[in-house]
Amino acid sequence: MTLLLDPRQRAMLAEMGVRTDFLPAGPVEAHAAAAPAETAVPMAHRVDTMAQPVIPQAPSNTLAPAVNSVASVSVSELGWLALEQSVRECQACGLCKTRKNTVFGVGATPAGPDLPPRADWLIVGEAPGENEDLQGEPFVGQAGRLLDNMLKAMGLSRRAQGAPEDSVYILNVLKCRPPGNRNPQPEELLQCAPFLERQVALLQPKIIVAMGRFAVQSLLKDTVPQVESIPLGKLRGQIYSYRGIPVVVTYHPAYLLRSLAEKAKAWADLCLALSRARRPQD
Ligand code: URA
Repeated sequence: MTLLLDPRQRAMLAEMGVRTDFLPAGPVEAHAAAAPAETAVPMAHRVDTMAQPVIPQAPSNTLAPAVNSVASVSVSELGWLALEQSVRECQACGLCKTRKNTVFGVGATPAGPDLPPRADWLIVGEAPGENEDLQGEPFVGQAGRLLDNMLKAMGLSRRAQGAPEDSVYILNVLKCRPPGNRNPQPEELLQCAPFLERQVALLQPKIIVAMGRFAVQSLLKDTVPQVESIPLGKLRGQIYSYRGIPVVVTYHPAYLLRSLAEKAKAWADLCLALSRARRPQD
């Protein structure tokens, strides 16, 4: 596929620390920048999917039940609004005691009442931080600004109102802030997993970009054995699958803010995702 880098995208990439001055003006093959295939994960675990996407069940207007643990059976039947309400009212783990807001997600406008947003791109982060907890929106701090610049460089935006192919939905695996921004605990990830699963089933994105190890572990735990023990750098450069939807793995923007040298690798990951998303359907 061909990626046209206009001056705005070049500026965005420069801000990400990715040099483009050596590239010729005009069309540039995205593959040229794509990450090298890494071999640490056995071929059997790479799932460049030919599988059919999950067909979401008909959205239900049923109000979410008040629960003390996330009953995945009922969550898997909720429509978009009821799911959002269920997250807002969730008390399945201790994070509900310290949160100011739940953070459900942000992105493209919903296609209609109680319908999910129409976005081909799904970005999955880790958990809300302080700003996200205050504002109830994912990635609104410094890492969020970098994420927005990465998206702009790809011609995408969280505020896009147009075609699904330019539209993004952004969410986290945890919907509540861990105090002091500590790492998510296994029990918290477990309790929140049905929400992520239902969001993906309703959104039906064309591609998922998993940012950082907790997003990667949550999405790949059923398909990549012992994913938690594989460094993220070794998982990059391949296409995986979550419920039949292709997944590209990359570094978390907060990590990129601290590790400037990895920004070029993150751009290579995004080019891989662009080429997969624009590939003709199987
Ligand atoms: N980091 C994340 O993973 N998600 C956010 O929403 C903010 C920071």
